[in-house]
Amino acid sequence: MTTDLTDLTITQARDKLRAGDISAVQLTQAHLDRIHALDPQIRAFLTITDEKALDAAAQADQRRQQGDDAPLLGIPLAIKDVLITKGVPTTCGSHILEGFVPPYTGTAVQKLFDAGAVMLGKTNTDEFAMGSSTENSGYFTTHNPWDLDRVPGGSSGGSAAAVAAGMALGALGTDTGGSVRQPAALCGISAIKPSYGRVSRYGLIAFASSLDQIGTFGRTVEDVALLLGTIAGHDPRDSTSMPLPVPDYSAALTGDIRGLRIGVPKEYFIGGLQPEIERAVRAAIEQMAAGGAEVCEISLPHTEYALPVYYLIAPSEASANLARFDGVRYGPRHSQGEMWPTYKATRGQGFGHEVKRRIMLGTYALSAGYYDAYYLKAQKVRTLIKQDFEQAFEKVDVILSPTTPTTAFKIGEKADDPLQMYLSDVFTLSASLAGIVGAVVPCGYDDDGLPIGLQVIGPAFDEPTVLRAAHAYQQATDWHTRRPPL
Ligand code: GLN
Repeated sequence: MTTDLTDLTITQARDKLRAGDISAVQLTQAHLDRIHALDPQIRAFLTITDEKALDAAAQADQRRQQGDDAPLLGIPLAIKDVLITKGVPTTCGSHILEGFVPPYTGTAVQKLFDAGAVMLGKTNTDEFAMGSSTENSGYFTTHNPWDLDRVPGGSSGGSAAAVAAGMALGALGTDTGGSVRQPAALCGISAIKPSYGRVSRYGLIAFASSLDQIGTFGRTVEDVALLLGTIAGHDPRDSTSMPLPVPDYSAALTGDIRGLRIGVPKEYFIGGLQPEIERAVRAAIEQMAAGGAEVCEISLPHTEYALPVYYLIAPSEASANLARFDGVRYGPRHSQGEMWPTYKATRGQGFGHEVKRRIMLGTYALSAGYYDAYYLKAQKVRTLIKQDFEQAFEKVDVILSPTTPTTAFKIGEKADDPLQMYLSDVFTLSASLAGIVGAVVPCGYDDDGLPIGLQVIGPAFDEPTVLRAAHAYQQATDWHTRRPPL
């Protein structure tokens, strides 16, 4: 019974709840049981909120009895620990926020709660979402459910691992340069990073404000679409959220891709790409052609600059955003009596190596004399990257590519080599810089049985087309039905 309930998709669980076959309390308890059985090895959760989850589930059951049929009523989900949750510790994976209990809940999470969702806990992340493996978490590393010696990806590795391991039916993550898409690919699940401005960032603790977006994880594109539809929309508390109506994403999943124009960027099939990934992605493209899509090769000529541009802009913004962590307003204070020594001690002890590296890179790039050469130049090249996509989308509806250059790597393999680590996101950074949509669907496994993810990129605010393409592919394949050997 228990394993059955944790193996459902959100849509299947919703049907069972609606039919009265199961209760939200049963469903939630099954997930908590699985978390307590598996998480000591996987370590996806920084905080598990058993009691709050069971209370919320009981409330959901009550609401249902009263005739409520909210879209996520009684659905247990995991939330990345960079998203603010009232009364529940929120650390960003950093010691500088150890013990911080926010006084409010961010918009996206609140929307999930309003739709009846049950939060199981807060998931592990690289500190302040800076990383690709969860190894930069100040607390511990999350393990990939497909191979416990390997990373789950990052920074939303805890959320992705939780969903892959059946410890949550779905999850929220955040993506600044790939942190939703890369862990989804490495854990063999589906996900979307929506357009910049599609989801409110209110209550998302900022890493790089011009890039950060909340994204959704699920075992199917259908679930990912359902979650996105719940959290999307304009929010007066986030001036960068777009005042646009939210389309019915679930209705977009027609299964029909006849005539869909697919572009395959030649710059994404480069040296260093694991051959099994290239094979799986090319096979997926052929499969979509067989489904009636029209495929052509395209060029995104400024792709090679995405990595350097991202690593100037993101640290620059981070260096400004992280100035607020001073031991006065949030988190522990390492008091030295005087103000400056206290700041120094608090930040010196609270931040980990990667965060310090980014703050130094960012302050350097923004400093007088270097601003024009680095930050301003990076902004200009960012525009060129955006224009590459605009030109491509005159000819094609979506772009298909690998999500990552390799499948899940070993824990420790890249931990001491920041450049190698940064390269994990080489295929996801461009869509973040351009503010456009990127979704991921499982499209195969390598020779070691590790999952491979197909990236579907689409124009800003065209989530419906991206989801339709990803769903149609998923309908025609069964990669997403495999489960890790736990
Ligand atoms: N891995 C990238 C970084 O370290 C992207 C992280 C993210 O999207 N939050 O910055």
